[in-house]
Amino acid sequence: MMVQYLAIREANPGALLFYRMGDFYEMFFDDAVAAAAALDIALTKRGTHMGEPIPMCGVPVHAAESYLLTLIRKGFRVAIAEQMEDPAEARKRGSKAVVAREVVRLVTPGTLTEESLLEARRHNFLASFASVREDSALAWVDISTGAFRVMTCPPARLGPELARNAPRELLVLEGSDLAEIAAEAGAALTELPAGSFDSSAAQRRLCALFSVETLDGFGNFSRAELAAMGAIADYLELTQKGRMPLLRPPVREALGGAMQIDAATRRNLELTQALSGGREGSLLAAIDRTVTAGGARLLERRISAPSRNLDEIHARQSAVAHLVDDPRLGADLRSALSHVPDMDRALSRLALERGGPRDLAAIRAGLTQAARIAAMLGDDQIQVLAEAARDLTGHDALIDLLDEALVAEPPLLARDGGFVAAGYDEDLDETRRLRDEGRGVIASMQADYIAESGVQSLKIKHNNVLGYFIETTSTHAEKMLAPPLNERFIHRQTTANQIRFTTVELSELETRILNARDRALEIERQIFARLTGAVLEQAGPIGQAARALAEIDLTAAFADLASAEGWVRPEVDSSRAFMIEGGRHPVVERALKRKGEAFVANDCALTEGGTPAIWLLTGPNMAGKSTFLRQNALIAILAQAGAFVPARRAHIGLVSQLFSRVGAADDLARGRSTFMVEMVETAAILNQADDHALVILDEIGRGTATWDGLSIAWAVLEHLHARNRCRALFATHYHEMTSLSARLPGVENATVAVREWEGEVIFLHEVRKGAADRSYGVQVARLAGLPPSVVERARDILHQLENGERQGTGKPAALLDDLPLFRATPAPAPGAMSQPQPSAVEERLRKLNPDTISAREALDLVYELRAML
Ligand code: ADP
Repeated sequence: MMVQYLAIREANPGALLFYRMGDFYEMFFDDAVAAAAALDIALTKRGTHMGEPIPMCGVPVHAAESYLLTLIRKGFRVAIAEQMEDPAEARKRGSKAVVAREVVRLVTPGTLTEESLLEARRHNFLASFASVREDSALAWVDISTGAFRVMTCPPARLGPELARNAPRELLVLEGSDLAEIAAEAGAALTELPAGSFDSSAAQRRLCALFSVETLDGFGNFSRAELAAMGAIADYLELTQKGRMPLLRPPVREALGGAMQIDAATRRNLELTQALSGGREGSLLAAIDRTVTAGGARLLERRISAPSRNLDEIHARQSAVAHLVDDPRLGADLRSALSHVPDMDRALSRLALERGGPRDLAAIRAGLTQAARIAAMLGDDQIQVLAEAARDLTGHDALIDLLDEALVAEPPLLARDGGFVAAGYDEDLDETRRLRDEGRGVIASMQADYIAESGVQSLKIKHNNVLGYFIETTSTHAEKMLAPPLNERFIHRQTTANQIRFTTVELSELETRILNARDRALEIERQIFARLTGAVLEQAGPIGQAARALAEIDLTAAFADLASAEGWVRPEVDSSRAFMIEGGRHPVVERALKRKGEAFVANDCALTEGGTPAIWLLTGPNMAGKSTFLRQNALIAILAQAGAFVPARRAHIGLVSQLFSRVGAADDLARGRSTFMVEMVETAAILNQADDHALVILDEIGRGTATWDGLSIAWAVLEHLHARNRCRALFATHYHEMTSLSARLPGVENATVAVREWEGEVIFLHEVRKGAADRSYGVQVARLAGLPPSVVERARDILHQLENGERQGTGKPAALLDDLPLFRATPAPAPGAMSQPQPSAVEERLRKLNPDTISAREALDLVYELRAML
C-alpha cells in the first residue's frame, strides 16, 4: 500500500493527499503533520517506513467537506485519491492485493463547486494572466456558475482588474513576479509551466472544451487572450481529472467598458467589504435587497464594475423605474423569486458529476418559477425585463419530465435512492414492491417464530454486519440452543446480553430483499443519469434563464430599495456634470437610523456640465467631511450600476475613473500607514486621472510634517486643476489652502458647518460654500476626553500662534520653537513669551497653607474649587 501511496504522492506535488481508506481519508508523512496542525486533529503513527514510524492522521469521509474548507481557507490544495474498486474485487487478485486508487480531483481555492465550500452570494473566480510578446490578457471563470470572461490587460491594469473581480486563485507563468499583486487582491497564486500558456495548444484545448471546430464564432481573440484562457482550460483538466465543468463561451470585456476603480479606492469606499473586513458596514450590505443567490452575485458584479455605457445604464434605470411605478408587480416578482434556487450552481455540479437529486429538483423548481415569472411580466414590458422574460420560457417539457420523475423533496445523495417518484417507472415500482413485501414478510415471520419458540421477546432485526438476524435475550439461550429449536434456529453470535440466530428461510428472504433493493437502486441510478442528461442537454438555455432571473431580481431589488428609502433616478449623460441635491450616505444613514438619529442631506455642485470644478472642503474633524466625500463617490457608483441614488436630485456626467485616497494617518486598516504608500497612490491618480474622472482626496499630505504636508496638498490640487482637469473633492485641515480659490478659477471653498456654544462645538453636518473660520480642533479634542490640563495648554499655544501670526512676528514654526515647553517651568527660558496669567483656581490654591486647615475646611475648599471651574 505504501508503494502505491508514494507513487500517487509523487504524481501530485504541491497538494496534500487525501488517501481514501474505507470510511476515512488518511494522510501520511509531512502531509499528516501539516494537516493535523491546520485542522487541530490528532496525529498518530502507523507502521514504519525506512525504519522510521510513519506519522498519520485522518478525517471521516462523511465530514470531509468541512475539513476541506478549513484547509483551502488556510491556503492548502488537496488531492483526493479515491478507491476505484470494491475491496472484494482486489481480494480476488490475491490476499495481499492493494485496492486500486486514483486521484479524482484536485481541490483548489479557484475550483470549488460544493455548496458548503462556496459563499452562495458571491462569485468564486479562477483567474489567469498571460503575456505574449507586447500583449497581455486576463481571463477569469467561475466554474460553479459557468461564467467565462477575458480581456486585454496591460500589466499596469492587472492590479485594478484583479481588485474588481477578486478571484480566489490566479494562474501565472512560472517565475512571474506577481506574488504581491495576487496577495493584494487576496488571490492564491498558482504557477504553471510554459506549456499551460502555449497559445496554439490553447486553441485546441478551448475547441475541445466547447466542442467546436473553431473559436471564430466566439470572437477574435488575441494570442495573449487565447493563452490566458488556454491556461484555465489546462488547469481545469488537471484539477478536475477529465470531468470538465460546463462553461459558457468566453465573453470579451472591453478595457473601457466599466468605471475604473482601483484596489485602494474600493477598500476606502468599502464597496463590498468594510475596512473591518466583514460584509457588514459595506455599501453592498446596506443596499442588498436581492432574494436569490444569483441576484446577489449580480449586484456584487454591478457595484464592482459600474457601467460606462449610457444605453445600458438608461435601459437598466428604466426597468427599475418601471417597477418603482408598479410596486404590485415588483412585490409579486420578488415573492416568486424568493422560491428560485441556485440553478447555476446546481447545473455545474450536475455537469461535474458531483450533483445529486436535489440539484435536479433545484432545476425543476427554478424553471417552474421562471415560467410563472415570465407570465407575470407579460409581453409588453420595457427592454431589460422583456429580454429577461424571453429567456425564461420554453422549458415545459423538461419541467414535466422532472415533475413526473422526482419526488417532492428528494434526498441529497443519489446513492441511497428514494428520489424517483412512484408511477414514473414500472420496472422500479415492481422491484420496490418486492423489496417492501419482503419487509412485510419479515414481520409475519417474527410472529411465527415467537409462536414456535414461545419466546415473547424474540425479534427480527437488521444491522450492517449481520444483515437480518433473530435476537433473544441470553436468558433463553439454553432453550434456543437445544433440540428441537436448534434444528431451525442456527446460532450466529452471542453478545453480553443477547444471543442471535438465523434461519434458512430468513437468509433466503434476505437475499430476495437485498436483490430487490440493489436492483431498485440500480434502476434509480440509471434514471438519475437519464435525467441529468436531459438537464445538461438544455444547459445553455437553463443558464440563460438563471441569468435572466438574476437580472429581474436585481431590478426588483433596486426598485424596492428606491421606494423604501426615497431614492431618485439620477440623470446620467455624457457631460461632465456633477450636481447632487440632498445627497446622503447610504451606510452612515443606516447606522444613524439604528441609533434613532437623522442624517443631514447635503448638496454637491461641482459643475453643471461645463468646466469641471474642484471643491476644497475644510472643517473640523468629526464634522462629516469624509462622509460627504464618500457619499458623492457612492452616488456616482450607484448611478452607473443602474440603480437609483440616495438624493433628492442628481445629474451626473459619466464617470470614467473613480479615485479615492485617504491621508496615511487614516489608513490604519492596512497596517502600514506609511507616508510612502500615500504618495505612491497619489502619484497614481495624478498620472492616470482623465478629464472624466472623479477624484476624492481626504486629508492628503497629513502623513508628514505640517509644512511638507501643506506644500504637497497644495501642489496636488494645482495639478488636478490644471492638468487632470477632472472633477474632485478635496478635504483638508490646512486652512491656508482656502486662499487657492481666489487664484484658481475652478476651485471653490466649502465647509462643514459647526456652531460654537459655550466653548463647545456642535456639529451641524451641513456642507456650505465658503471656508471654515477655524478648525475647532481643541474643542474636538476636549470632546474626546483629553485631560483638561492638556486642552488648556493647547488653547494657550493656539492663542499664541494666532497672535503671532496676526502681529506678523514670525512664522508659526519659529513661534513654536520659542514656546516654553511646560507652563509650570519655574524659570522661563530666555526669549520665551510672557507667562499666561494664573487661573483663579491656581491663585486660590497658591494662597493656601495646608498645614493650617482642618479636614472639614479642606472638604469645603474642594467644593469651592469645583464651583470655580
Ligand atoms: P470628518 O471626516 O470630518 O472627521 P466624518 O465624516 O468621519 O468626519 O464624520 C464623523 C461622524 O459624524 C460620522 O461618523 C457620522 O456619525 C456623523 N456624520 C457625518 N456626516 C453626517 C451627516 N451628513 N448627517 C449626520 N451625521 C453625520
